[in-house]
Parts: sequence; structure tokens; C-alpha cells
Amino acid sequence: EAAINRIAAGEVVERPASAVKELVENALDAGATRIEVTIADGGKGLIRVKDDGCGIPEDALPLALSRHATSKIDGSDLLNIHTFGFRGEALPSLGAVGRLKITSRTAGGQAAEIAVSGGRSEPVRPAALSGGTVVELRDLFYATPARLKFLRTDRAEGQAVTDTIKRLAMAEPYVGFTLRDVTGGGEGRVTFRADPESGDMFDALHGRLASILGKEFAENALRIDAEREGLHMTGYAALPTYSRGAAVAQFLFVNGRPVRDKLLTGALRAAYMDVLSRDRHPAAALFIDCDPTLVDVNVHPAKSEVRFRDPGVARGLIVSGLRHALAEAGH
Ligand code: ADP
Ligand code: MG
Repeated sequence: EAAINRIAAGEVVERPASAVKELVENALDAGATRIEVTIADGGKGLIRVKDDGCGIPEDALPLALSRHATSKIDGSDLLNIHTFGFRGEALPSLGAVGRLKITSRTAGGQAAEIAVSGGRSEPVRPAALSGGTVVELRDLFYATPARLKFLRTDRAEGQAVTDTIKRLAMAEPYVGFTLRDVTGGGEGRVTFRADPESGDMFDALHGRLASILGKEFAENALRIDAEREGLHMTGYAALPTYSRGAAVAQFLFVNGRPVRDKLLTGALRAAYMDVLSRDRHPAAALFIDCDPTLVDVNVHPAKSEVRFRDPGVARGLIVSGLRHALAEAGH
């Protein structure tokens, strides 16, 4: 059983950034408004995610650690998921590949904690916490040295954690995020911070993009709002006069999930073809929302891949939506 867990776990948790993604998505599912992530040694030594969400009832703590016990859906429903978690695999997997401790408290409940390492859990114990949940993962892959060796430097893994948090934060502007690095002990230092935004969806996103991509991007960004054949696109795209030098800032979200799709690069290139020289990268953060049946979600746990059933429509939407906005702005 422990061995099976470890093998399956490797599928879910490839590296510190994938553990962070799972834990932050759980916090979002729990309705958190503030999420604090702490890492040490690029996440290899420590990952801690603290949230102010609904908490886990004391008697549900052991259940949260058993494989598939919590799976929010039965599989037939994969295309209609509204929460991030739907496999009930993340926590059991993390408990199989590292030393995991979950401390939690629901409104009106008692704080309790459970620890698990190498897939073996200890009994639930009373704990001290004012509310929400703290999940702490230490010594990732300590039991599987082969996997540990496969990881990149602390610096590179830490950078991947930062990128993951920035993407998640972009899609959730009303939620506050902090990332703290405590490598070497002590208080450490805050390496990323985005306070909760307010206002309507465009205002909130605009503020969030200012804290992630910088004020200059926000001040030089065109509001995008376009629709085509059931796909609705919102977001911001930079004016051609805005330049980030060599840095690429192109972000695409489909139904709230960050996706890496080459479709975006090509579509942006086409949209800016007449207004931006070829050696510069257009910057944009675009959110496409559509009926879930219009996309295929790759259920590979470690990858958030979304494919459009009709990529041509998505491409057309991006190109025409951006060209329209650029033309309106006189470009
Ligand atoms: P999934 O998210 O797919 O349900 P996980 O293994 O990620 O599976 O989490 C197991 C269960 O533990 C969740 O369904 C949820 O009920 C509970 N849980 C995990 N993290 C949190 C959290 N931060 N706040 C509240 N509940 C949580
Ligand atoms: Mg989950």
C-alpha cells in the first residue's frame, strides 16, 4: 500500500512547485481570502501553506489523507468540475513523498493536527490554531533519493514555485498571496506579495496585474473583452509601445485554470504582426471562459493542460479581439 502510494504520488508531485500548486488550489477550494506560502531550500526542505479557509473537521483529518476517499467527483463528471480538486490524491501523495503535517480548525470546532510520513499516519492530536488550515511538507522526496536527484537547484525550484504562485494569483485577484523564503532559518524574507484586490472583475485584475507584472504593464494595458462562438475572452494586453525587453509575459487561463498552450504565442504574434517588430514579445494576460464541453482537460494530475475542441475558434478570438482593441487605441 505504501509503495503503491509512492509510485502514484510521483505522478502528482513532480517537484516542489507541483506540491505548492496542489496545496494552494486546496486553500482556494476552501474559500480562503488570504494564502501564505513559506518555503525553504527551493521547497525541498520546507513548503508551508497557511490559509483562512473553512478548515477540515477534526474527524475528517484522517480521511483527507486516504487515497480517493475525498474525490469530489466520480469521473463521469470530469468536464463539469468547478473546484480545482477532484481526485482526492494530493494530500495522500504528499504524505507518501515527504513528511506532512496538517493542522486545521473549522469555525466552532477544535484545532487538531495529523502527521504522516512515508505514507504512515499518526493519530489525530489537539493543536493550537485560531482558524483555517496549515499544511506543512518537509523533506520532499526524502524516501526516494532517485527523485530527489532529479530535481534542479534550489534556486531553479524556488523560481518555479514563484512562477506557480504568480499564475494562481493572477486568476484569483480577490485573494491575498504572500510567498516567504525562510532558507537558513529565522523570519526569512517575503519574495512575493499581492494584497487582495477589490472592485469589479476588470478593476481587480488590473490591480493584480500591476503587482505581478508591474505598474508599467498595467498603465500600458488595453482592456480586452470579446466573444466568439461561445468563447468569452477578458483580460489585458499591452500596447505595442510597452516593452519588457527579452522577458516574455504571456499568460492564458481557460475557465480559471492557468494553461501553457503554444496557441497563445502564435495568436499574439499574429495579432501584433503589423504593430510590433518581430524581435519583441507582446505581453498579455487573457482569460477565456466557455462551456466546459468546448475544452478537453488533460487529467494528468501534474499538468494543467487544456485543449480547445476547436483551436481555430480560440485563435480567431484572440487575434480579432486584440486587433480590435489595438485599432480602437489607434494602433
Ligand atoms: P481533492 O482536493 O482532490 O479533494 P486533496 O487530497 O487535495 O483532494 O484534499 C483532500 C481533502 O482534504 C479535500 O477534499 C478537502 O476536503 C480537504 N482539504 C485539503 N486541503 C484543505 C484546506 N486547505 N482547507 C480545507 N479543506 C482541505
Ligand atoms: Mg486538492
